[in-house]
Amino acid sequence: MFDVIVLGGGAAGFYGAIHIMERNPKLRVAILERGKEVLTKVKVSGGGRCNVTHAEFDPKELTKNYPRGERELVGPFHTYCTGDTMSFFEKRGVALNIEADGRMFPSSNSSQTIIDCFLKETDRLGIKVLKNSSIVGITSQYENVEKGNYPWEIKTIRNTYQAKKILVATGSNPKIWDLLKQMGHTIIPPVPSLFTFNIKDERITGIQGVSTNANIKIIPSQVNNSKFKSALKKYSIQPSDLESEGPLLITHWGMSGPGILRLSAWGARILNDLNYKFSIQINWLPAYHEEGLQRQLQQIKEVEGKKTILRTKAFDIPKRLWGSMVRAAQISDTDKWADISKIQLQNLAKQLTGSVFRVDGKSTFKEEFVTAGGVHLKEINFKTYESKILPGLYFAGEVLNVDAITGGFNFQNAWTGAYIAAQAIAKH
Ligand SMILES: Cc1cc2nc3c(=O)[nH]c(=O)nc-3n(C[C@H](O)[C@H](O)[C@H](O)COP(=O)(O)OP(=O)(O)OC[C@H]3O[C@@H](n4cnc5c(N)ncnc54)[C@H](O)[C@@H]3O)c2cc1C
Repeated sequence: MFDVIVLGGGAAGFYGAIHIMERNPKLRVAILERGKEVLTKVKVSGGGRCNVTHAEFDPKELTKNYPRGERELVGPFHTYCTGDTMSFFEKRGVALNIEADGRMFPSSNSSQTIIDCFLKETDRLGIKVLKNSSIVGITSQYENVEKGNYPWEIKTIRNTYQAKKILVATGSNPKIWDLLKQMGHTIIPPVPSLFTFNIKDERITGIQGVSTNANIKIIPSQVNNSKFKSALKKYSIQPSDLESEGPLLITHWGMSGPGILRLSAWGARILNDLNYKFSIQINWLPAYHEEGLQRQLQQIKEVEGKKTILRTKAFDIPKRLWGSMVRAAQISDTDKWADISKIQLQNLAKQLTGSVFRVDGKSTFKEEFVTAGGVHLKEINFKTYESKILPGLYFAGEVLNVDAITGGFNFQNAWTGAYIAAQAIAKH
């Protein structure tokens, strides 16, 4: 028998258990983990470096990185934010580095440092970590409390445990979502988030590795216009949510980079409905619109008439990409500015500010991938992370329908939820 059982030995589970014991050392707390190892996702996170959080200290700004959870996380981030995460680790001797883009990693650049910190803390606080304990049943038996029983019964493949309160931190586990559904919770069906786009197109063939800043818009393909429109309505997505500006990387199989990953997160549901077949429109020179660029190109033509277009360094974009756009505008490698027609000039402006690519499928972004979906947020009290349906049951981490773009935000959701749930659990 335990006062608290934490379901799942991942990021949120460990952070929660540690804070429960810190707040109330008299409690008996256990973590049940199905695997033979704990914290396996932490281990592989951030390419083995663990991007623990992000240097965004304004709670409202921070929420803008969460396609699902943006509204609900405002309050929780006011209670426990990225600065609190930094202090947690620094107080325990884990120094953190902030990179130029705001991502934070342990100075050791090894996720093992984070794992060691958690294991040392669970040891110090006397938290029981029970591995190989796959949870197969969760029952609430409040009606038997008078008979001296604890209200929660947790069945694993080998044992049955009783607890006064439980913290569910099982991440994106379909079996646990099924159990929670049977217990009355609504589960938003899971779909992948944070993926790269598969594109086969002559314009990007042979220029893998090119990276540039671009404005990218998801648009319907020629065949799925009405499906696209109804999906926008279904998920209350504004077209502006499906537009991003940021670094874009051309890969062997298509496109990746923060600009693309951001779209994959915001578009996670709608793109799943479209079976990952859609189009994107790219402005490779976000400072220009088509007409403005046409005027600029006309001026270059007048001044640089004798120069070869391909060799002119007219704009701040990678050379190989410029070459690709020039050829896509039906301009040959030897054409000079003076040789080209008005139509060719218009084509070039169109390619540079609005080239359309057909996306057919997705690939995994290996640094980080998450699932959109989980326990419906309207069923959670975000002051305590307690279920509004089942008192005594708390949630933290990816089990909820919260997810973020890449950059340390997914872990911050786990830390914040686990901390707040822990305070509520340990209070009584
Ligand atoms: C490759 C990769 C890299 C990532 N890198 C980053 C990063 O650098 N920064 C970032 O912010 N986010 C990153 N993420 C996302 C981040 O890892 C998750 O958002 C985070 O781990 C969620 O924490 P959690 O505790 O909710 O779930 P998890 O960490 O998944 O933990 C859930 C735990 O519950 C256990 N469990 C599940 N079902 C049962 C069961 N039935 N019985 C018992 N135990 C069970 C699981 O085995 C697991 O240990 C990455 C994800 C991946 C896949």
